[in-house]
Amino acid sequence: MSSTPEFQHTLGKAAGFSGTSLHTGEKVSLKLQPAPADHGIKFKRKDLADEPTIDAKIDNLKTVERATTIGDGSVRVHTVEHILSALSAMGVDNAIVEMDANEPPIGDGSAQPYVDVIKRAGVTPQEAPRKFLDVREPMYVESKTGALLVLLPDESFRISCTQAGPNNRFTQFLSTEITPAVFEREIAPARTFVYYEDVRALMDKNLIKGGSLENAVVVRGDAVLGKEPLRFEDEFVRHKILDIIGDLALVGRRIRGHVVAVKPGHAANAELARALAREQTRRSALEVPRAMPRGDGGLNTDEVMQILPHRYPFLMVDRIVDFEGDNKVTGVKLVSINEPFFQGHFPGHPVMPGVMLVEAMAQVASVLLFKLSKTSSRIGYFMSADGVKFRKPVFPGDTIFIHAELTKARGNRLAKAKCHCVVNDAVVSEGELMFTFLEK
Ligand SMILES: [Zn+2]
Repeated sequence: MSSTPEFQHTLGKAAGFSGTSLHTGEKVSLKLQPAPADHGIKFKRKDLADEPTIDAKIDNLKTVERATTIGDGSVRVHTVEHILSALSAMGVDNAIVEMDANEPPIGDGSAQPYVDVIKRAGVTPQEAPRKFLDVREPMYVESKTGALLVLLPDESFRISCTQAGPNNRFTQFLSTEITPAVFEREIAPARTFVYYEDVRALMDKNLIKGGSLENAVVVRGDAVLGKEPLRFEDEFVRHKILDIIGDLALVGRRIRGHVVAVKPGHAANAELARALAREQTRRSALEVPRAMPRGDGGLNTDEVMQILPHRYPFLMVDRIVDFEGDNKVTGVKLVSINEPFFQGHFPGHPVMPGVMLVEAMAQVASVLLFKLSKTSSRIGYFMSADGVKFRKPVFPGDTIFIHAELTKARGNRLAKAKCHCVVNDAVVSEGELMFTFLEK
């Protein structure tokens, strides 16, 4: 379906279907909507006031008991792993998943209904390049329950999985590359399975009102109970792979690596997703934009000075080279021996004062805040700086790339930004800054 895998993809048009939610047993309608590049996957609760959205990101992970739940504030979406698995494996990078309940329809317990709705909507390329996360060295997570996930470098996304039930019943192994065609044929039809010992208690507690042999295979002793016979001899390991894809989709980037999983579960999957997200954050800190301003992505000195009130010798931003979404910005400061502070800091041994680096971070963060509030009639005042670290000295001739990410904005009054400065691929300083705004 996707002929240009190097570009991001969204849906060709909206499409949806209705069904039963597993936990409440109530009817729920789901509708997939196209979304712009760099949007990612977001869930929208159409049944709540203001129709809040939740980013399908590992930072929003709430619980991993039996199914994967994400949330923001008090809003929750349960059992997101099957729809996320289908979207990710079928090559959809950007979409809105609208629902009128807190859970997608469970369908037959597989990802088949989601693949069907994605195919009805169509998958269409966008102009922005796809974001990958290349595994560069082996990493692993291990849980007390015996789950082990190892991630190895690979040119494609592969999963090799070993599944084993209680007393090693139903031990199954499958190794496959994950492509849309493989997913649709080999993985998507595999249904959820539960052990009878586990469901009896859940049914008694009314936890799975919508659960029935319509949407799960029940394993009782050596017997397999279901509406229809097993779809694959090794259907269980295939469903485990389905869940791994869905949980790792919370990383928000396409993984190029080989997942080797032994007795995986949502908790271990989520832990690997977290480790990957941390690795991505670490790498982003080292990535420096080499190019100077391009197109609409940057601001030249003049434009910076229209936003910031600072002037010589206190303007610490030469240019803005990149905006990423609404909450990230990168500025550049070329450090010259002619900077006034080098005269006294220190004679014969010029080193840029750390406080000037904090000032540079504050100014770059301010540019972002003013761009967001679309006004320059106010001045941002620095309230606090937390976790400030100076890791390396900055010398004349250095080019500083100043990164700021808005982490909190409370109304128009208060904002927090995580910042770091990079010289020659190394972080030289970092800190979290808080601002308040006052009219000029
Ligand atoms: Zn599942």
